[in-house]
Amino acid sequence: MIVSRRYRVTSRKGGFSAGVLVALMVGAGCGGAVAQSTDRLIAITDAVIFDGTGKEPYRGNVIVRDGRIENVGQNIPVPAGAKVIRAEGRAVLPGFFDVHTHWSPGGQPGTLPQIATAYITSGVTTVNDFHQAPEAFEPRRDWLKQIKGPHVNFVARMSTPGGHGADWADRNTTKWVATAQSARREVQALQPYRPDHIKAFADGWRYGNLPEETSMNLETLGALVDEAHKQGQRVLSHTVTVDRGKLAAQAGVDVIAHSLQDRPVDDETVALMRKAGTFYAPTLAIYEPTPGGDRIVPDLTEPVSRQRYRKWDYARQNLRVLYQAGVPIAVGTDAGIGGAKHGTSTLREMELMVDAGLPPAAALIAGTANSAKALGVIADRGTIEAGKRADLVVVTGAPWQNIGDVRNIHQVVIDGELVIDPRVKLPKANSETALAAVPAVQLIDDFERTDDRSALNTLRLADMDGGVERSTVVTNRVPRATGGSALSIAVQMSLKESPEGGVLIPLSRGSVRPVDARPYAGVRLEFRGEGPYQVVINTLKGEWTAELEGRPDWTEVRVPFSAFKPTPTRRSETQEWRGNDLVEVGVLVRRTAGATAWAEVDNLGFY
Ligand SMILES: [Zn+2]
Repeated sequence: MIVSRRYRVTSRKGGFSAGVLVALMVGAGCGGAVAQSTDRLIAITDAVIFDGTGKEPYRGNVIVRDGRIENVGQNIPVPAGAKVIRAEGRAVLPGFFDVHTHWSPGGQPGTLPQIATAYITSGVTTVNDFHQAPEAFEPRRDWLKQIKGPHVNFVARMSTPGGHGADWADRNTTKWVATAQSARREVQALQPYRPDHIKAFADGWRYGNLPEETSMNLETLGALVDEAHKQGQRVLSHTVTVDRGKLAAQAGVDVIAHSLQDRPVDDETVALMRKAGTFYAPTLAIYEPTPGGDRIVPDLTEPVSRQRYRKWDYARQNLRVLYQAGVPIAVGTDAGIGGAKHGTSTLREMELMVDAGLPPAAALIAGTANSAKALGVIADRGTIEAGKRADLVVVTGAPWQNIGDVRNIHQVVIDGELVIDPRVKLPKANSETALAAVPAVQLIDDFERTDDRSALNTLRLADMDGGVERSTVVTNRVPRATGGSALSIAVQMSLKESPEGGVLIPLSRGSVRPVDARPYAGVRLEFRGEGPYQVVINTLKGEWTAELEGRPDWTEVRVPFSAFKPTPTRRSETQEWRGNDLVEVGVLVRRTAGATAWAEVDNLGFY
């Protein structure tokens, strides 16, 4: 999550309703039943069941055993020993899905446990996370095991050189492909990380607000999809124009994960999507001109405002047309980007679908069974049927009549365990904002490994500056006269005002877990170069830099922590050095546009 230096932005707190937190805490204090471990046998009785199959809602019971729905229907007996949840006429629905989220540090909320909590308090039990570097999949999967949260699918990012989504972080975070051959290679290269799905940033149109970026051609996208399918993964595409919607359908993309909004969708595109079985997840929640449904009267004499409303009208109209034509609709939001909040945006998306003309029951099916089908997990979840995973939501009201009732979350069951309930207390790990720091070790990297990994077994990041125009960084291991090897860094500065380049070494896998370097005095390295450089430390709260003068001969350099200052060009959450939340250490170089620079580094560590 830290690899994007440019996007290391403040993670604001309080992204979800403080009221919910208070309710949970007050509930916890009542001394009621505490379900910390899996509830093995649950009976939800006297519920109105919306099972997601298209059947009319009916009154009945749901029996859950060992995480699965054992039985559901009218007049189903309650087994002895079951923990009974009396729904008292409330609605029970399959847990909601969000096929398009970004667990980004700049989102609302911005930290993993708080995001997880925001989803489950909104009844969202399965999400796709489009934001992580593959190196972070495993440590984040481990972290999620410690907390109550939704099922999180880790979706690997692929774009084109100069494409949307490739404009921040390094090439390990977002793969760049421009040919069928490179698309296949990179899908294969992702496999050791066990991605759940692939996101293809296939469309470079920037909504008419910014210059267009590159797009993925049909051959590349087709090969990417074919290779992903061979590996058992679905492909969701960032597609926002009608023409590229057509191309996505032709390429066999499984889910178009945004709205087509540059013009009305035409019959040919509709036919292609129908033929290909493309799902459509319009992410209206991110495009809504007045977020949250605020009744702000737009100034339509303003061109930007006029254009925004025109796209919004197309997005709504195209959803209606595609739905009426029988294209399956799924729910995604782009939450974590812009102002779209985690959890509540998913509920808002279903309201916006109804506002755009879908019947409420169709919006609910989009958020449950259809999204499960889109991700290929309908045999496992997405409906309330015997044998399915027990991911369930109990709400007050009848959301198939009044979609806004999805907000009246009363209880949430995930894998057969009651996780949201007035009597249930979430584990402490759900209220932490970071993993506990581990002690820093002295040696970060002696550059002896031949696989681009540090002595800490973390993957070195060639840190290129953000934006479409990017500096090029090439690193090599080079022999040292004294024996062993050092890292050689060569940078070709991009053609922009303040380019930069360098390398960053994560202190833990995927930069997820912080390290505590307080027993040490600073950063030590052996260095040679020419001109000014900077040593950089990324922490959970921001970026810190210290000046480093390059000399042509090898020099041992010790930079005390006191010499590090918050990088002025970056937003930082705090000006206070803590020393116990370090995630990356590296070397940066800044030169004029188009200039080249070099440096050699060895034996980087703490002293
Ligand atoms: Zn997105």
